[in-house]
Amino acid sequence: MTHWNKTKIVATIGPASNKRKELKSLIHAGVDVFRLNGAHGTISEHVDTIRLIRSVADREKFPAAILLDLPGPKIRVGKLKDEPMYLKAGTTITLRCGQKTQKADEIPVQMKEVARGVHPGSQIFMNDGIIELKVLLVRGFNVECRVRAGGELRSNKGLNLPNAKLGLPSLMPKDEKLVKMAIKEKVDYLGLSFVRSAKNIVELKKILEKKKSNIHVIAKIEKPEAIDDIERIIRVSDAIMVARGDLGIEVPMNKVPVIQRDLLMMCHLAGKPAITATQMLESMVENRRPTRAEATDVANAVWEGTDAVMLSEETSIGKFPSNAVKAMAQIASEAEKRMPILPSRQVEGKRVLFQTIVMSQAAHLLADRLKAKAIVAPTRSGQTALHISKERPDAQILAPTTNEVIARRMNLYWGVRPMIMPKFESVDELLKSAKTMALKSAYIKKGDTIVITSGAHGRRSETASLLEVRQVGI
Ligand code: PEP
Repeated sequence: MTHWNKTKIVATIGPASNKRKELKSLIHAGVDVFRLNGAHGTISEHVDTIRLIRSVADREKFPAAILLDLPGPKIRVGKLKDEPMYLKAGTTITLRCGQKTQKADEIPVQMKEVARGVHPGSQIFMNDGIIELKVLLVRGFNVECRVRAGGELRSNKGLNLPNAKLGLPSLMPKDEKLVKMAIKEKVDYLGLSFVRSAKNIVELKKILEKKKSNIHVIAKIEKPEAIDDIERIIRVSDAIMVARGDLGIEVPMNKVPVIQRDLLMMCHLAGKPAITATQMLESMVENRRPTRAEATDVANAVWEGTDAVMLSEETSIGKFPSNAVKAMAQIASEAEKRMPILPSRQVEGKRVLFQTIVMSQAAHLLADRLKAKAIVAPTRSGQTALHISKERPDAQILAPTTNEVIARRMNLYWGVRPMIMPKFESVDELLKSAKTMALKSAYIKKGDTIVITSGAHGRRSETASLLEVRQVGI
């Protein structure tokens, strides 16, 4: 099972899609990475879904990656007595912090730290930013607010407090349980929500290291503090997610497009994969076709250098999950025909990285000038394939690897088609089997030009040091 759009598609799995038949049709529609949102559901439900995804992907012979999002310190409304509760603009209400269920008319808020982090004049948003409150008075754990923008409120809805310093840890008890499960079930990526600094990522990576886990960590960028520390966050993370949902509440909404563009460019220059997330095809939760504006949003993200585009409610609770994936794949592959030239990456410093980047640029140049059908990049760690991907070549990047974990991980990389190959003894054997695999991929036929990279296999660090141009089968 292979599809050929280069921009990767991340699909969130939920009640609308966590069935064998639906998962199979999502793979056929073009999903590369399945995402589970740890904010919803129980640990054992997630285990069941992970196992089901793996079983369907194995059957389809497609090394789909699995991303589990850790909810982190998300603040939520507690359980309301009668719902929905309607908050009217101009009225005053009280938030009771540290309370799980509603006792009287006040609104229960699950974390007591909220009362310590706000002061008169602070803004509080609820229900995806629809409800806006202004703090009037803080008395103990009671926060009295004026409703500036009203709306409907239900139990468990999220609260956003832009710029409030709550001093919350980055991993809450539920996150710790999810991490333990993710290690056991060998998920490929962990997404950390509400990252505030590079330290949050380093802490999670230390836990993984201690448990000898090689799960890659994705920093979800949705807090203004994260923007302030973004260079260091990108450096220590394996990938970035532009989490536009919460970001658009935490920072003024008109700043989101500029932040998205800046983050995607920074990830391009740093050689890190980037995911653009949330509301990309929102109208498809209800409709069979996306709006023109949504189609343009997906295409713009591709042109700005995103590696992957993400679907949330469209595939988790929407009416047409596989239609949404198909629409996304169609829009992305059309946009890929007009890829702009992204700035050349000039990463100096570590020799191994420098050589990998220069070799990737050379492979790109050769493939584009010779109109090669594919760049075949056998890889041990996925690094060579990732750096070639960042060059955005017209050719497909076929990435044979002997390691299944690396194959799944590479499914997030733009334009990279991972393939699992048998173990090899020599570079000659590797090249031979890589070429055979390329032919088997059905993408390459006899007579096609391919560019092959190879080199330091067998050494500790991965550096491509050999470039070869071949006419397949000739
Ligand atoms: C977001 O806020 O854009 C996001 C991806 O996070 P979540 O779906 O976990 O709220």
